[in-house]
Amino acid sequence: MKRKQPNDVYTLTDLQNWPEVTRGINPPIRLAVIGDPVAHSLSPTMQNAALQDRQIDAQYTKLHIKPDELEEALVLIRENEFVGVNVTLPHKQRVFDLMNECDQQAKDVGAVNTIAIRNQKTIGFNTDGIGFAQAIREEFSVDLKDLRILVAGAGGVARAIASECGKQGCERLVIANRTTARAMELVRQLQNFFVGPKVLGPVSRLQAIGLTESELRAQIPHTDLLVNATSLGLERSDPNPIGAHLLEPHLMVYDTVYLPRRTTLLLAAEQAGARAANGLSMLLHQGARAFEIWFGREAPISAMRAALQP
Ligand code: NAP
Repeated sequence: MKRKQPNDVYTLTDLQNWPEVTRGINPPIRLAVIGDPVAHSLSPTMQNAALQDRQIDAQYTKLHIKPDELEEALVLIRENEFVGVNVTLPHKQRVFDLMNECDQQAKDVGAVNTIAIRNQKTIGFNTDGIGFAQAIREEFSVDLKDLRILVAGAGGVARAIASECGKQGCERLVIANRTTARAMELVRQLQNFFVGPKVLGPVSRLQAIGLTESELRAQIPHTDLLVNATSLGLERSDPNPIGAHLLEPHLMVYDTVYLPRRTTLLLAAEQAGARAANGLSMLLHQGARAFEIWFGREAPISAMRAALQP
């Protein structure tokens, strides 16, 4: 029998007829990333390389699921022998409420980026924070605990990053967001991590600010690592989340955006003489942790990294 090739992207309609739609596909599809949009995702490239490297008889695909389809999609995923899924924009927070169980990290963040299906139950995890910490260690050879960190953004990814910074006891943390109230709310939730004795002169250890030039300018001398966790940068026409003229050589700049690989922020950081890295390393490490959750064995990092190279 001729082997059937999988589609690049599947939809809810496909999930509703999954055994029929995927009959003859070998290895069978057992994993996916769900999002809206999802076509741009590099997770299948990386995870299929991992599955092949570990000789696991399964494939990973993309599921384009709209917000009003999410609940039904999760039921169908549970019923159709999936091992697990990754969750991306805009579903991470909504999925949290739809899980049978969640691990502590997902509870801390209030969002899920990895689901494991075990005994017909959905278990939610969040590997973004740990992926970020590993990415920073790999890119800049430093640990979060030794850094003064400014995170631009207060959405799902910013929350995971900020929570990890708090857990690892970073020197200080500033959340800068367009909607200042969201930054303040996040800071309020993180307060318990920052009651320790690290006092750094006139600036507070935990602070919420707006994303304005004057507020950012005041923070730059007290910042080592600057992180873009806003969605600005995905489009070439996007303005810089942090003005180019504010960037200084002492900074490490990490952009969670990885497509385009050289965002306007990273180009500006390089021009300012700062060290800079894009979000591919975070993608890699959050994905490796997801693989380990699904299969209970070490992820083949080298094969996954090689698959992400252009
Ligand atoms: P999200 O929950 O929708 O949050 C978006 C954030 O961006 C909010 O803080 C929002 O501010 C801000 N923002 C949006 N438009 C803006 C604008 N025009 N000006 C200023 N701020 C703006 O999104 P998310 O899930 O956190 O994703 C954020 C980024 O992380 C995405 O760009 C994605 O590419 C990246 N990401 C990377 C990885 C990785 O592994 N490297 C994984 C997942 C996501 P308001 O609160 O004011 O709306």
